[in-house]
Parts: sequence; C-alpha cells; structure tokens
Amino acid sequence: MTKRVPFVFVIRYSLFFISMSCLFCKIIAGEIPASKVYEDDRMIAFNDINPQAPMHVLVVPKRHVATLNDLTAVDDGLVGAMVRTAATIAKENGYDGPGFRTVFNCNAHAGQTVFHIHLHVLGGRALRWPPG
Ligand code: AMP
Ligand code: ZN
Repeated sequence: MTKRVPFVFVIRYSLFFISMSCLFCKIIAGEIPASKVYEDDRMIAFNDINPQAPMHVLVVPKRHVATLNDLTAVDDGLVGAMVRTAATIAKENGYDGPGFRTVFNCNAHAGQTVFHIHLHVLGGRALRWPPG
C-alpha cells in the first residue's frame, strides 16, 4: 500500500529547502554577513554589495517571496511598508530633496538575479531615464 504525504508537509519542506538555498534568506538568518542599515519584524535593509550609486540599499522582506508575480493581496501591507522604509532610508541619507529611485526587478528581462524580492533604493547621483 502506498502512503500519501500530507500536502502541508510537502509545502513546508519545499519552503524550507528554498530558503536553505536562497542568498537573501541566508543573510536574514545571519548565515551570510551584510552591511545592515535597518531591520524590523517584517523586513531588513542592507547595502548592495555592488553599488550603482553613492547610496544603494536593498529593502528585503523576511518572508521568502521569489518574484513580484508571487505576491498576493495579503502582502499589500508588507510592500507598502517596504516602500515607506525606502523613503525613510533615502531621507536619512539626505536624498529626499534631491531625489532617489526605487526599483523592483522581476524575472529575466528586468535582470533579476536574486529570486527573493527586494526593493533597490538608489540615490546620490542624477539617474538617467529610461533605464538601460
Ligand atoms: P537583482 O539583479 O534585482 O536581483 O538585484 C540583486 C542585487 O543583489 C544586485 O544589485 C547585487 O549586487 C546584490 N547582491 C548580491 N549578493 C549580495 C550580497 N551578498 N550582499 C548584498 N548585496 C548583494
Ligand atoms: Zn529567500
């Protein structure tokens, strides 16, 4: 007789293995160091390792969400809070007046390389438009 594995079990273990292999989950767990600039119960923000502007911070939710396509209505509050955190960080660095940019890359054509959503916050130089 074949035994069925409960669905919740499959989901829970799948999420466990995804987070084990995810770079940003490892940073959140403290397994990989990062230059942290902000943290609360829902998100963390740290300096990008390869900055594209004098200020280049990544705002990252603590829950693993691979891409913007995976967000649901439940996440509306989280994403709103991430955007407000980005604005606060920009203001703390003096870029609220001069201006700054926030970017979510989603999948290949946008150049997403880390599949755990993150909001780029760039400031400190005039940024061109349209982006490349
Ligand atoms: P994206 O291309 O939108 O997925 O952005 C991923 C970002 O993560 C890039 O800007 C990378 O420079 C940055 N990044 C990759 N590894 C690290 C790390 N260990 N610490 C901080 N930033 C990182
Ligand atoms: Zn992750």
